[in-house]
Amino acid sequence: MLLRAIGRRCPRCGSSGIFASWFRLDERCPRCHLRLERESDFFLGGYVINLAVTEGLLALALMIYVLRIAADPGTSLVPVLVAGVIISVVLPVVFFPFSRTIWMAIDLAMRPVPRDEGNGGAPGAGQGAGQG
Ligand SMILES: [Zn+2]
Repeated sequence: MLLRAIGRRCPRCGSSGIFASWFRLDERCPRCHLRLERESDFFLGGYVINLAVTEGLLALALMIYVLRIAADPGTSLVPVLVAGVIISVVLPVVFFPFSRTIWMAIDLAMRPVPRDEGNGGAPGAGQGAGQG
């Protein structure tokens, strides 16, 4: 499920058409009809993942800079500033859909969807479609 999520695909069936745009998910997966936003404020977990990745990479960039300046006190500050701006401005936008699908995969692993839920009433839809 996590590998499907990293590919911006439905974590349950692996379908790729779950995003209407870069920032907007469809209501349901087109193949397995899984409701993508399972409850109100569902994607708060996705925001936390996005924030953690961004802050983690910022901390890593800062740590690399500290190690470099310890070895060579004349190290320029410009590269770490450029990296910091890219990490804090560009990365959250680029990573946004991935953070959502990754959160969906984590949530699905922790709270599996019952067999009859999420298929939109379409008989036979969903279960078994791309499982495994
Ligand atoms: Zn699906």
